[in-house]
Formats: sequence, structure tokens, C-alpha cells
Amino acid sequence: MKVKRAAKYGFCSGVRIADLKVKRFAATGGRGAILGQVVHNERVVEEMEKLGVRTVDEITAVEEPTIVFSAHGVPPSFHSEAKSRGLNVLDTTCKFVYDIHRESKDALAAGCHLVFIGDPNHREVIGYTRDLDPSVYHILLKVSDVEKVDWTQYERVKVFYQTTLNADEFEDVVRRIEQLTKVVQRADTICYATKENQDAARVLAHDPEVDLIVVIGGKKSANTKHLWEICREMKPAYLVQGADDLDPQWFGSANVVGVTAGSSTPDYVIDEVEARISAL
Ligand code: SF4
Repeated sequence: MKVKRAAKYGFCSGVRIADLKVKRFAATGGRGAILGQVVHNERVVEEMEKLGVRTVDEITAVEEPTIVFSAHGVPPSFHSEAKSRGLNVLDTTCKFVYDIHRESKDALAAGCHLVFIGDPNHREVIGYTRDLDPSVYHILLKVSDVEKVDWTQYERVKVFYQTTLNADEFEDVVRRIEQLTKVVQRADTICYATKENQDAARVLAHDPEVDLIVVIGGKKSANTKHLWEICREMKPAYLVQGADDLDPQWFGSANVVGVTAGSSTPDYVIDEVEARISAL
């Protein structure tokens, strides 16, 4: 069986930098705890734990001198809370996430009502909204959510997308807001790394040579799930965290297996999956 990788897959620049920062910190004897997964991948979390940097869910659970904020970013108040607890901060927030923090703050100051297209439970979206008064923003995902809002009360609206979303899938949501509101601006916040991985996954899924696709990534990784959704529209597609999740029954008479991976999947996991498929 031949393996064909997507032209673009795996770690994005933000995750690569976060991963490096934490490893460098651990290698120089740093003792810290990461708030939430540093990136959404269980193998990376295990690797960090082996290096002595464990993962915690609350700031109150940090016993080490340093708290690590992940690539997804945190609400600004977390920085002051960490400081008030006497913790050092190792901030690995991606620069693109910081761009949204900055742009949404400016939009608010300019009198816009904020709309975040995204998952209200995703840490990136929580980072943008947790500190805000609930009256100044909405988090929306569906047209039916848009219909529930009285848009006449807002003069200007600015729309932001969670970086890892596929904007095309939410065009109907944003169009509906535009129909109901006087002035709507869209911020260009879809991360290019996510888009490049998605475009390459689409090309792979349309490749007539490819019989099925294996998508590799963490259980909690939103962008990996999106890649899988794109692939399965065209071909049988399976989502795995690593080589151990592969089921030989999936491959039947397949000759060419497409492989892609979410932006939080380390290179070595992709290599392991490819080796296991080739050996089948
Ligand atoms: S997917 Fe994009 S926004 Fe998210 S961490 Fe990676 S580079 Fe940053």
C-alpha cells in the first residue's frame, strides 16, 4: 500500500513555537505547569509531562513557580491573576490569536458590537470573551442563533472567526447578520496555516488515485476534526490519534492511502502512522 501525504499538514508555526518554548524552558531546568493542553494533542501533553511540565486545568492548581499559557491564549485577566499569585508566566500564545485580542479590543473601543463565530467552549474563544461584559458580544455558530438576536440595537457589528474554522461553512451565518444589521465588518481572522492544511486536504480528497484518507490529530483538536470533515465528503476518512488506532479492516483493497494531520500533530506521530500503514 502506498501512502500519499497532503501537500501541507501538521504543526503550524504557532504550535511549533509553543512546543519549542516549553521544551527549551524544561531543558534549562524550568519548573512549571501548563494551563490546559499546550496544544490539543495527547502525545505532546505526555511528552511535556515526561520533561517535568505537567498540565493543570485551573490556575489555583499550579504549585510550580511558573505557569505556561498555551498557543490558544487566555483571557487578559489570567495574566493579572497569575501575577497576584506570585507566578512567573511563560506565554506561548500564538501571535495570530493576539492579533484578534488586539483587533477586538479596538473594535469595541470604536463602538462595535462584537460577534465571534466559534465554539463558546473552545479555549481560544473563552480567551477573547471571558473578561467582557456579556452585553457587548455574541458567540454564534448557526443561522438559528442569529435569528434570536435583536440586531436593530447595534449600529455597527464586527465579526471575528475562531482561527481554526473553515469560513466557507459559516458564510450563511455571517450573511444573515449582514442582512439584519446596518454596518457589518468582517475581520480576516482565519489562520493561513489552518486554511493551507484544509486546502491541501481538499486536493488530496479529490485525488482520483487516493482510495481512503487517514487524518491524524488529538481528540480535542478542532482543526483536525475539520480536516476529517473535509476529507470524508469525498472519500472514506478515518480520524486517528496515532498508529495504534489504525484498524487493518479499513484498508481492504486500497492501493493508495492519503494522509493528513491537524496543526497540533507532531511530525513523529505522522511518521509512525505512515510506517504502520505501509507495513499493513
Ligand atoms: S493554527 Fe494558526 S492561529 Fe492557531 S496556533 Fe497555529 S498558527 Fe496560531
